[in-house]
Amino acid sequence: MTHDGATTYPTATAIAEAVAGGTLSASAVLDAHLARTAASEGTIHAFNHTDDDAARQRANEIDARVSAGEDVGPLAGVPIVIKDNICTKGVPTTCSSRMLDGWIPPYDATVVRKLAAAGAVTVGKANMDEFAMGSSTENSAFGPTLNPRDTTRVPGGSSGGSAASVAAGFAPVALGSDTGGSIRQPAAFCGLVGVKPTYGLVSRLGLIAFGSSLDQIGPLTHTVADAALVLDVISGHDSGDSTSLPTPAPRVSAHLDDGVAGLRVGLVRELMGDGIAPEVLASVNQAAEALVAAGAIVEEVSLPTIDYSLSAYYIIAPAEASSNLSRYDGVRYGLRVDAPTTGEMMERTRTQGFGDEVKRRIMLGTYALSAGYYDAFYGTAQRVRAVIRGDFDAVYNNVDVLLTPTTPTTAFKLAEKVSDPMAMYMNDICTIASNLVGQPSMSVPFGLDSDGLPIGVQLMAPTLGETTMFAAAAVLEAAQPLGSQLGSPRTLVANEGGL
Ligand code: GLN
Repeated sequence: MTHDGATTYPTATAIAEAVAGGTLSASAVLDAHLARTAASEGTIHAFNHTDDDAARQRANEIDARVSAGEDVGPLAGVPIVIKDNICTKGVPTTCSSRMLDGWIPPYDATVVRKLAAAGAVTVGKANMDEFAMGSSTENSAFGPTLNPRDTTRVPGGSSGGSAASVAAGFAPVALGSDTGGSIRQPAAFCGLVGVKPTYGLVSRLGLIAFGSSLDQIGPLTHTVADAALVLDVISGHDSGDSTSLPTPAPRVSAHLDDGVAGLRVGLVRELMGDGIAPEVLASVNQAAEALVAAGAIVEEVSLPTIDYSLSAYYIIAPAEASSNLSRYDGVRYGLRVDAPTTGEMMERTRTQGFGDEVKRRIMLGTYALSAGYYDAFYGTAQRVRAVIRGDFDAVYNNVDVLLTPTTPTTAFKLAEKVSDPMAMYMNDICTIASNLVGQPSMSVPFGLDSDGLPIGVQLMAPTLGETTMFAAAAVLEAAQPLGSQLGSPRTLVANEGGL
């Protein structure tokens, strides 16, 4: 199945407006999305868990409150999908791992509480690479997710189920998590907008940790306005997360029409050459021209040490993961495989509970942190991280935002890279630096390749530069070549009775 590009889906912005205004019921909105899910989830496999009855009950409750004249919030009746590493009270949360199969969190993540308070309707938990380690969603213990734009291809990862659910019209919004690109890369592969916010802008309370100094939650949507709407709901200080920023969150929705007149945009030389597909480079250059046409000043800039970000990331992220995943010991959470001694029980539990990629990361990380090697590996990687941060600081003295490809290629075929970890890791070449430096970045659909597959371009901004980044993204969206995205910017489209 290759998507013909003709179908468009309603946006969260349009749904919320119509539900709050009483012209559309949350139940009707939900039914339209559940019907699409019923029709193609068997092929796509975006979900680890759904509960249609609970979603219907929730939609009815929203409708009753709207009828009673209540303001139910900015996401009134908006169906939403949650990545399966974000805790949902009473609802299984597995990280797509046998280790947590059947585990039911006793609490909601802060983002889940905020979405509920804003009137959203959760429809399911999305498939992912196990513990968010991967770039194709093929590392799930429960089987891969397929790309709705072309089902012979991967949706990207690790938030592949989140991306596929939005691209297939199962919900207009999904939450993903991004440690090295896991929101932006699947967004690019599925023709969506995907945002990794500034580190600390969105609470990590209830996000099951992978690399704690890198992880951020963010939205995947059809449009820039929808991403802004959701980010404004989920961002903000949380005293339950010690790394949550104390400063007020930027209100991105209010700045979507700021434009780019006079904005200085840097094209990163190191990410515009070797290893990037020519069609992807062409899209980035076309995006740069669109920004110039809207009044921006585009110049080439250099981040000389960005080439080391992949090496630094593959020390730091596994080191943090090996520490974070030590809690899965057969005693405290999820799986236990019994054995005569405690030591053997732990060994069998971890041997059977974790998949190959997770084990590879734990071994890499444990080695990098081991006595005698700690400074040579982990210490060096942290110093490299500081140098990269210095490169970004220097570049932002001269430009306001950066423009790069999101990924070196468009969506690759299922099974193409799964047996070659290095080839898989190379997917992150354009995305991981933002995580290392803790700065915001997002992918915006911009054009299609010769196979009709979506191409994503990435915008990066300095710490808390989300408003500028979104203003530039809105300009790119308005200028994008036909067929780039399936959502209809800012209007409720007239298909399937408006839904
Ligand atoms: N693909 C990267 C990895 O495997 C990034 C994953 C992520 O952002 N969660 O680590």
